[in-house]
Amino acid sequence: MNYEPVIGLEIHAQLLTGTKIFCGCSTKFGSEPNTQTCPVCTGMPGVLPVLNKRVVEFAIKTGLALKCDIAPYSIFARKNYFYPDLPKGYQISQYELPICEHGYVDISVDGVGRRVGITRIHMEEDAGKNIHGAEVGYSFVDLNRTGVPLMEIVTEPDIRTPAEACEFMKMLRSIVRYLGVCDGNLEEGSLRCDANVSVRSAGLEELGVKTEIKNINSFRFVEKALEYEIKRQVGILKDGGRIVQETRLFDSDAGVTHSMRFKEEAHDYRYFPDPDLVPVVVDDKWVEEIRTTMPELPEQKKKRFIEELGLPGQDAALLADEKALAEWLEEAVKLGANPKNAANWLINELMRMLGEDKTPIEDSRITPKHLADMLALIDKSVISGKIAKSVFNKMYRTGKDANLIVEEEGLVQISDSSELESIIDKVIENNPNEAERCKGGEVKLMGFFVGQIMKETKGKANPNMVNELLRKKLAE
Ligand code: ADP
Ligand code: ZN
Ligand code: MG
Repeated sequence: MNYEPVIGLEIHAQLLTGTKIFCGCSTKFGSEPNTQTCPVCTGMPGVLPVLNKRVVEFAIKTGLALKCDIAPYSIFARKNYFYPDLPKGYQISQYELPICEHGYVDISVDGVGRRVGITRIHMEEDAGKNIHGAEVGYSFVDLNRTGVPLMEIVTEPDIRTPAEACEFMKMLRSIVRYLGVCDGNLEEGSLRCDANVSVRSAGLEELGVKTEIKNINSFRFVEKALEYEIKRQVGILKDGGRIVQETRLFDSDAGVTHSMRFKEEAHDYRYFPDPDLVPVVVDDKWVEEIRTTMPELPEQKKKRFIEELGLPGQDAALLADEKALAEWLEEAVKLGANPKNAANWLINELMRMLGEDKTPIEDSRITPKHLADMLALIDKSVISGKIAKSVFNKMYRTGKDANLIVEEEGLVQISDSSELESIIDKVIENNPNEAERCKGGEVKLMGFFVGQIMKETKGKANPNMVNELLRKKLAE
């Protein structure tokens, strides 16, 4: 029997606001434990939460990007549970009336497109962090993260393969980064993914029993954890067993999932509307105002890179995926660089070098202006493509501009035909046997001569002219 996987994701995104969702404490990451707390976020009696308007704005922005309906009226609810990192004994979240619903994201894997429905986006507060093992016999709790704003994005069970789940996560990360609402760092936990998965006999409509996998903190693990879990479920069903609805933890070292706890049901949380917070009322005017601040998103950018800049689809996708890269390219093009050439240098040279040095593009010493200037030198035949590579390397290391490097190092291309001719004559003279064979029809020896001439000129000979002159002397 064939089984089909069904996957739905629940994604938590930490919002890039300066302060927490219901108090004025800083959201800065990495401070001394419990230095960014106040009576509100530590759940002292008698205090009242006040909603951070920025959080609503960020959620609406995301909702618009994910083609959701924005609720004119939504409410906060208390989700009750006991855990040491939750000082109030409840988390303020949204339950029945979330801020956004009914959206979608289009993804494509290996040319197969899929529309993934967005069930809802809601706003909530993060919990604190328990610290175990710092001192024998004790566990500690750091409440700096308590009350940091989160957005939870829930998808419909529309995803069918681990690769699609991974692609969805990548797309979502790209979108929230474009919007500037979340930094999208999976490793540090500012973007966290819980994956729900079930399998069913191919062709059946009815969904199978699902498990929820927690603790997935990289794109690779999204795929790995789901692949493992699908195999596990299919194995159980093939042996005539039944899947237990439960929460499982992914162990990335072993590449397996372990049972963590039986899945709690919504009623276990005793949700009820939070009486301390007024309903969130969003009027059309505000939504339209936010709409005007929406940046061009990765999908549109990719389309424009293909249609207007003439980039190959793969290059367009690669660059559009990361806002900083896309903007880097656009800036170079604005400064006169040919888009295709600029994209090639950016992808094949700069991104490779930055990758090796683990440096983000924002910290690159080569700016779009550097590249545009260098491409202009190639266009004007001042330097050859080969010399350009070494100029590019020097720009990367020193941040000097191309003109200066070319001038300082005397790299100007030799395009003077009489100068080139005398060099060519010398090389032919020094290699009489090869010259004879070449004249006799062994044209592949041309490459040998080009190499010798480049060696002689330290790569500065104008390659087109060298080819033309050589052909005249050896092949005609
Ligand atoms: P729960 O009430 O258990 O939290 P929800 O209905 O709220 O479940 O769905 C949570 C997530 O699980 C959603 O992303 C949803 O698409 C996904 N999901 C629901 N049922 C299934 C299923 N049978 N198989 C796979 N994913 C599912
Ligand atoms: Zn606080
Ligand atoms: Mg649920």
